[in-house]
Amino acid sequence: MNILENKTNTPLSEYGEFGLIDYLTKNNTIKNKSTVLGVGDDAAIIDANKRLQVVSTDVLVEGIHFDLHYCPLKHIGYKAVASNLSDVAAMNAKPEQILVSIAIPNRFTVEAVAEIYKGMYACCERYRVDLVGGDTSSSLGGLFISITVLGYADKDKITHRNTAKENDLICVSGDLGAAYLGLLVLEREKEVFLKDPNIQPDLEAHSYILERQLKPEPRLDIIAELEKNSIIPTSMIDISDGLASEILHICKNSDKGCVIYENKIPIDTQTFSTAAEFGIPASIAALNGGEDYELLFTIKQADYEKIQQIKDISVIGYITDKNSGCSLLTQDDKSIELTAQGWNAYRKGE
Ligand code: ADP
Ligand code: MG
Repeated sequence: MNILENKTNTPLSEYGEFGLIDYLTKNNTIKNKSTVLGVGDDAAIIDANKRLQVVSTDVLVEGIHFDLHYCPLKHIGYKAVASNLSDVAAMNAKPEQILVSIAIPNRFTVEAVAEIYKGMYACCERYRVDLVGGDTSSSLGGLFISITVLGYADKDKITHRNTAKENDLICVSGDLGAAYLGLLVLEREKEVFLKDPNIQPDLEAHSYILERQLKPEPRLDIIAELEKNSIIPTSMIDISDGLASEILHICKNSDKGCVIYENKIPIDTQTFSTAAEFGIPASIAALNGGEDYELLFTIKQADYEKIQQIKDISVIGYITDKNSGCSLLTQDDKSIELTAQGWNAYRKGE
């Protein structure tokens, strides 16, 4: 049974705010030296040592960023943390602490909130991050989750969006477009389910893209590999809004242009087959779909040999001068201007 509808679960009122915080943090452990004090006092205490501290925050709102019809609560928690860690990775830094603030509607039970935290702790465990505080409130509207992450890097290793140089190579980790197609599948199955709740969703054939949508991983493994191979990207961003939008951010902020080769964009076979099901070119999903949480970065040409040592990285283009603009060289050798259009712009003509 759906955890939100189980009447035998514990109402929030039975625990109260402090009881709930205690319950949610009772098994919380500290993993990083930088965490001097975690949950329990008026503020956490952090020792940044000689490193620079990077800070980022994200808010997730029910109905806007997630849909409780098809997002399991645990996955919501995991993804909320993962997307924050990805922002720190994009600075070439290491995340070590998070703070979690939640506003919870009355229909949620203690068990339901605990399920969200299970997902958060799972992500914290996997990436060795400490949960050091937060805030708790009730909500008259939907569920609301805000996470702040603290990360660290040596001064000379931090990467920005505005520092790409002409002739730098453009690289991307993993594969793109899968999370967006996962979302399309979930939405299609939701429609089927709402019409007839007895029909069980057919999700088996799409396991990879669904995982990419529901449980994205921040690419901290790539950050570690870059370090191991002595590569400091000349610029970097994480891909939360689609490749096109993110490369345009780098180019605009760096005052540069770019060429991207469509046939070099990494796309998984399941992304290809599902895109075909929906009648969409897979590369459009990669360029304009969101939530892949891969890293997009530029490197000096001299680092080309080194980058070959890291698996799961594709070189997809290069940085040009500003006046050349930002272009996509298509499979059939046409050069078109890269635009960060939303999905619908591509649908019209079909
Ligand atoms: P205050 O009244 O000073 O805001 P709280 O009672 O809200 O203090 O918080 C007590 C402790 O519990 C603090 O360390 C705070 O960071 C932590 N905390 C509160 N809410 C949460 C939450 N939802 N998740 C994790 N830690 C929390
Ligand atoms: Mg508080």
